Order: sequence, then C-alpha cells, then structure tokens
Amino acid sequence: MTQDCIFCRIVAGEVPSFTIAEDAHSLAFMDINPANTGHVLVVPKEHAANIFEVSPSALAATASTAQRVAKAVQEVVAPAGLNLLQANGPGAAQSVQHFHLHVLPRRFGDDLPMNWPLRPGDRDAIAALAERLKAALA
Ligand code: AMP
Repeated sequence: MTQDCIFCRIVAGEVPSFTIAEDAHSLAFMDINPANTGHVLVVPKEHAANIFEVSPSALAATASTAQRVAKAVQEVVAPAGLNLLQANGPGAAQSVQHFHLHVLPRRFGDDLPMNWPLRPGDRDAIAALAERLKAALA
C-alpha cells in the first residue's frame, strides 16, 4: 500500500467507495466522475503505477474482474457498446497513478474524446446503480 495513493486507500477501506465486486487480488468500484452512466474502475489490490509495473498475476486478476463487471454493466445498463480503457502516463491523461481498467459503457453519438474531462457525477444515482450492479454480480 502507498499511503498517498487514493486507490490504495480505497482498497484499504480508508476512503469510501461504491465497491461492486472484488476477489483476492482486485477490486471494482464506481467512477465518481462517470464519463457515461455505469462507468466502473477495476484495480489490482497491490499498488502498481501502470502497465509497466503491474505484476502479471495482478493484471490477470484485474482483467478477470473487469470481464465479470463488463457482463454486469451490459446486463444492467444495456449500453450500445462498451470500452475497456487504460491510461499510462501524462500523455495518455492518466490522472491516478495506480493501475486501473476503465469499464466504460458507450452511447451512440456520445463523442467521448480519449482524454475526457472529469465531471463529478450524481452520487445518489451512482449509489443506486452500484446496488443494481452488485445484485447482478451476486
Ligand atoms: P485516469 O484519468 O485514466 O487515470 O482515470 C482515473 C479515474 O479515477 C477518473 O475517471 C476519475 O474520475 C476516477 N477517480 C478519481 N478518484 C476517485 C475516487 N475517489 N473514487 C472513484 N473514482 C475516482
């Protein structure tokens, strides 16, 4: 754990999150600045800054949880499409230095740029959707 890392603190339960799934090595929680409804982040529990540092076993666990989450998002949100995205470094607009996969539902015509601006979401709506996704993942 890295004390100044927000995702390590979420993994440790020190910072609140809308967590929807986890296994021994990975955790999935709602993005609080959703680019689209149903935007979820999946992280390895052990700290690694990026794709260059994450261990193969942590990456595998994170990918496996992301697949479970993607299926739940597809079932509950029924988006027109869904991207798995992952940023490394400032040129890729990585804003949190703890490896994470974005499970990002897409809408036709959303014109989402690769480097989208962070806009706070409605916490009540995010919490309600987290409950529906947790039920789908149970
Ligand atoms: P990136 O810009 O690819 O590094 O993505 C980081 C993501 O983390 C952004 O989409 C943020 O909205 C999200 N984020 C930052 N802090 C939190 C938090 N405390 N809980 C949930 N999501 C967060």
